[in-house]
Amino acid sequence: MSLITRPDLGAWPTLGYVDSPLDRACHLRAGAADLLGHAEARFYLLGGELVALNGPGPVFDPLFTRAQAEARGRGEPLFLGIEGDGAPRFALGFDPGLRESLESDGLTVTDLRSIAVSGLIAPHHLGPIACGKALRAWHGRHGFCANCGAATRIVDAGWRRDCPSCGAQHFPRTDPVVIMLTERGDRCLLGRQPHFAPGMWSTLAGFVEPGETIEEAVRRETLEEAGVTTGAVRYFASQPWPFPMSLMIGCIATATSEDLVIDRNELEDARWFARDEVAEMLMRTHPDGLFVPPPIAIAHHLIRSFIEGGHG
Ligand SMILES: [Zn+2]
Repeated sequence: MSLITRPDLGAWPTLGYVDSPLDRACHLRAGAADLLGHAEARFYLLGGELVALNGPGPVFDPLFTRAQAEARGRGEPLFLGIEGDGAPRFALGFDPGLRESLESDGLTVTDLRSIAVSGLIAPHHLGPIACGKALRAWHGRHGFCANCGAATRIVDAGWRRDCPSCGAQHFPRTDPVVIMLTERGDRCLLGRQPHFAPGMWSTLAGFVEPGETIEEAVRRETLEEAGVTTGAVRYFASQPWPFPMSLMIGCIATATSEDLVIDRNELEDARWFARDEVAEMLMRTHPDGLFVPPPIAIAHHLIRSFIEGGHG
């Protein structure tokens, strides 16, 4: 038995956009319009990937009263759920083009990734904001019936759109994406997409296609992008990823081949990394400045699991 000193990575960090404290309260959706006037009703103001915050910092308040929200927002409020004390929460949109106007009005406007990475708001707001953002993104693309082309209308406070022409009902969807740490012994496979920041490497990922199981999607994407075959696939964890409305399904796959055939249309590069090197990347102590995604992303947790799974 060999002895390997594993690095002290500290406490396991929190994944972003998970653990919403809200009760989705589906039974209240049909009558949610009545909740708009609730004394404790509060609104998140979202514009594309932007979110408006009440100052002063350093930890901002992303909740607005109805009057504050309606003065700055537009469209229909989407019902996100209720807090433990029964206070309703909504998401209301704003025009991203009004960013400067909102900022001159004393608000702080930032983007969804920044609030998660830099701790600008209390973590329990991230889940509801991600939900509201994904829901708004869906509505933004489904104004017309996919069945007959007629304009549809919002029902159930944002959880359905009905077509008045053909009667079709459309429900908000999320797009399943597999994201996998592929391991082979003491090494794991990481890749770089062209848009990544210089030096960043991450796990491979791809959309699940119709008719596919999660395991099949993991094996297909790993083979397509890197030319590596995989055998066992096990589920790790999942994460809502509101860019624009995905569900990341984290898996760990065991490779059954090593040679790489990289799809340069998908990846800038891919290679095998030894466990010790990946640990340096996660701790941001790599001599060449290589690093992995931050703790808000499930890739970080998959990679950390691989590092901590090493045994001497
Ligand atoms: Zn229709």
